[in-house]
Amino acid sequence: MQDVVIIGGSFAGLSAALQLGRARRKVTVLDTATPRNRFADHAHGILGHDGKAPQDILAAARAQFLPYRSVTFRNDGASLIEGEKDRFVVTLFSGDRIETRRIILSHGITDIMPDIPGFARAWGKTVLHCPYCHGFEVADRRLGVLYFGPLSAHVTAMLQDWTEDLTVFADGHEVEPEFRAKLAHKNIKLVEPKVTGIIEAGGVLSAVQVASGAEIGLDALFVGPRQKPSTNLHAQLGLVMDEMPLGQIIHVDEMYQTSVPGIYAAGDVASPRQSVPLAMAAGNLAGVNCHHSLLD
Ligand SMILES: Cc1cc2nc3c(=O)[nH]c(=O)nc-3n(C[C@H](O)[C@H](O)[C@H](O)COP(=O)(O)OP(=O)(O)OC[C@H]3O[C@@H](n4cnc5c(N)ncnc54)[C@H](O)[C@@H]3O)c2cc1C
Repeated sequence: MQDVVIIGGSFAGLSAALQLGRARRKVTVLDTATPRNRFADHAHGILGHDGKAPQDILAAARAQFLPYRSVTFRNDGASLIEGEKDRFVVTLFSGDRIETRRIILSHGITDIMPDIPGFARAWGKTVLHCPYCHGFEVADRRLGVLYFGPLSAHVTAMLQDWTEDLTVFADGHEVEPEFRAKLAHKNIKLVEPKVTGIIEAGGVLSAVQVASGAEIGLDALFVGPRQKPSTNLHAQLGLVMDEMPLGQIIHVDEMYQTSVPGIYAAGDVASPRQSVPLAMAAGNLAGVNCHHSLLD
């Protein structure tokens, strides 16, 4: 019987495992090696790690588990959770089953690529989701925002700190009058027709193509794709979910516990604000709270 099975061994899951390992609890970390930022060559905004490759940060973290012998790593995924607090059974892709008293869900989310040719190839390279993660590297270049609802106005306002050459692509949507007026006031270009293609080579963007046939030269496009949890474990378990502008996340209380007692969640899958440092902080707290719940 394990004390905790952690499903997802990336930034949130490893942070939880570190605290539980330091508390000498029996932990199994399951991971399928697909962290969300694997498409980017470099990660930014992470104190002490700015500019490192995501996989290098994770490899360094994994290497630090050597002293914590009660933590076991398995390159395997979880497909099913049964049972209840103190008596869960996790079934793995391999068919193996692990009994555990607690579970932490830290399997992250999946960004859903829209059906625009070239979009997925440039994702994480020049089609970007976060100005703080990537803005500095494309500063003073020709930047664009692909309209994705009311949040687009906020991203557009932020990007003015990174460039004066900004274009908003309405992508055939009706842009809110207030946003439209702001764009006119700030002299930000608005391209109305539907986006039909991302012109790129090896992920490096050169233009955005729209339905009129026009190609608008661009160096980076900021977007907000919809997202979904990376597994369907939340649906199997009937977990309470929170609706966010870009998709659903798992609802947790202030202890990071989900609506099922004994199951915790941390990182992107349970957070409206998503970044590596925030996933690490949430994982740390979920690990600590989970440990407290195991004390007699
Ligand atoms: C292109 C891109 C670039 C980014 N750049 C930055 C940046 O520069 N700075 C920053 O702070 N944030 C950045 N982010 C955000 C960052 O990637 C996430 O906030 C962070 O990875 C969340 O960590 P997590 O541990 O919650 O989930 P993830 O890192 O996504 O890890 C989830 C883990 O769970 C595993 N998993 C999935 N399903 C299962 C299963 N069934 N069983 C077991 N394991 C499973 C996956 O393989 C994965 O390893 C970026 C995001 C993207 C998309």
